[in-house]
Amino acid sequence: MADTDLLYLPDPERAYEKTFEAEVVEASDDHLKLDRTLFYPTGGGQPHDEGTIEVDGRQLSVTDVRKDHGDPLHEVTGEVPAEGTPVTGEIDWTRRHQLMRMHTAQHVLSAVVYDEWDAVTKGNQIHTDYSRVDFDVDEVTEDELERIENACNEVFDDDIPVEGYEEERSRLKKRIDTERTLLHLIPDHITTLRVVEIGDVDITPCAGTHVERTGEIGEMRILRTENKGSGRTRIVYDLQEP
Ligand SMILES: [Zn+2]
Repeated sequence: MADTDLLYLPDPERAYEKTFEAEVVEASDDHLKLDRTLFYPTGGGQPHDEGTIEVDGRQLSVTDVRKDHGDPLHEVTGEVPAEGTPVTGEIDWTRRHQLMRMHTAQHVLSAVVYDEWDAVTKGNQIHTDYSRVDFDVDEVTEDELERIENACNEVFDDDIPVEGYEEERSRLKKRIDTERTLLHLIPDHITTLRVVEIGDVDITPCAGTHVERTGEIGEMRILRTENKGSGRTRIVYDLQEP
């Protein structure tokens, strides 16, 4: 059982690496497991990375990355190299950076809505062109939406550093708002968590990729809300480049 080194964690600085050297530790029909990788596997509302894996001058396209017992499994097109083969990976940076901006914006949006309206984030889905977050609130008025949008954009304008590090779950639990962060939804066997901290705006466990400073996010536009029933409201947003 391999235990892949996730090169994009824990400091956001590491999420800016685009290429890496690795070795194949498991190979099947169209899947590869590597000893280390920059490819993010689908999870936590963030879609997987795309890109290429080069073997002996041959380029394989990475079309999907999913988690297999916690390790990223790379789905590739073309002939799969044997175990032990050295490879060079490169992620599609344009796609990844858009997801990093969207994902960091989601943390800020979740924090702003929780602080102002006590509404907890119940789910989120990030995309490159738009994203959505579901809150446990019946309704959000036009006026409130404008205030939410402005509050988020203020955080982006303030260009706050984003930090990422690992921390023991028991220690983290004592100092964060466990309701906002839904700590109880993370399986108990995970005792060390990756924490993402955005100044005094937000602190939450998250294993995704984020930008280093909020100034990189750009400008948020809330596109619409949707009533999802059972007291849930979905907020859909996109981002303008900074
Ligand atoms: Zn995150």
